[in-house]
Amino acid sequence: MPEGTPRQDLIVGVDLGGTKILSGVFTPQLKRMATAKLSTKAERGYDAVVERIERCVRDAVDEADISLKQVRGVGIGAPGAVDPDTGVVLFAPNLRWKDSPLKRDLEKRLGVPVFAENDGNICTLGVQVVELDGKPQQLVGIFVGTGIGAGIILNGRLHGGFNRTAGEIGHMVLEVGGPKCGCGNRGCFEALASRTAIFRKLSDSIRDGAKSQLSEMLGPGEAIADLKSGDLRKALRKGDKLVEKVIGEAAEYIGIATANIINFLNPEVIVLGGGVMDALQDEMLAIIEATARDYAMTGTADGIRIIASRLGDEAGITGAAVLARQGLKS
Ligand SMILES: [Zn+2]
Repeated sequence: MPEGTPRQDLIVGVDLGGTKILSGVFTPQLKRMATAKLSTKAERGYDAVVERIERCVRDAVDEADISLKQVRGVGIGAPGAVDPDTGVVLFAPNLRWKDSPLKRDLEKRLGVPVFAENDGNICTLGVQVVELDGKPQQLVGIFVGTGIGAGIILNGRLHGGFNRTAGEIGHMVLEVGGPKCGCGNRGCFEALASRTAIFRKLSDSIRDGAKSQLSEMLGPGEAIADLKSGDLRKALRKGDKLVEKVIGEAAEYIGIATANIINFLNPEVIVLGGGVMDALQDEMLAIIEATARDYAMTGTADGIRIIASRLGDEAGITGAAVLARQGLKS
C-alpha cells in the first residue's frame, strides 16, 4: 500500500456488464491496486448475479492483499437505467432486471456503503476525472461495444435526466426504416455501429459470397460472430476490403452521431471508448472526426476535441471508484 494511505480509505469500483463483471481496488488518489474478473451469468437471475458481484469484489480485495474492512465504499456501474439516489436498477434489459435494489442487496452482503450508476455514466465520469484531470466541464462519452452506451457531463456534473435515462444515444435513430434494434425500433445508432451490428453485417456479406480474410481466421465450428474486434484489426492490416468497408461505414455512423451531439449539446470534449474503439481506434478515429466535422453545423465544432479514451476496459471500474469517492464525500 502506498505510504500515507490510511488503512480504511480504499475504494472498490465495479463494472457490471451483460457478460462480465470487473472489479478494482483503488487508493483514495484513484491509483489502481488490483483487479478481478468474473463472468456475469445473467441467465441465473438477479440473486445469483448479486452473489457473483460480491465474489468479484472479494476477489479484487484479496488480490490487493487487503481486507474488506479497509474498504470505505464500493461504486458500481450497471447496464441500464439506475436511480443513483436509491441505488435501484430501474431496468436493465440485458440482465432482465426491473426495479432491482442493487445498492441495498450489495450493502447487506459487503457491509460497506455502495453507490450505483448507469455504466455509460460511470465510464464518462472515469474519463473526466482520471484521464482528463477533471478539467472539461461539458463532456459526452460514447462507448461502442456490444451495444452503444453514453454519458453526459454538463457543468461538471453527470446529467441523469427526468427518468434517469439521459444518454441513451445508442437508440438515437440514424436511419429511418434501418436494421432492427434490440429495443424494438429500427435504424438505431446501436443497430448500425455496435460490435453486434458490425459482425452481423460481416456475416451477412460473407454468407452472400463476399471474400474476406475473416473466413480463414475461424477455428473449427466457429462463426464470424465468435471473432474478436482485434481480429478485425488484423484483417484490416492485411488489406481486407470487406472489413475496411464495414468498419468505415460504422465509423461514419459514429461520426454522424458525434455531429448530432455537437449540434445539440455543444460539449467541450467528446470522448470515444468501448471494446470496438479500443481495438480499432487507429482505423476509426480519423473517419469519425472528419465525418463529425463535416456534418456539424458550420462553426459549432470549432475547438471541440474529439478523442479516444486511453482507459480501455478500465474506464468502468475507474469511474465507479470516482462515483464511490464522490458519494462518500457528500
Ligand atoms: Zn434501439
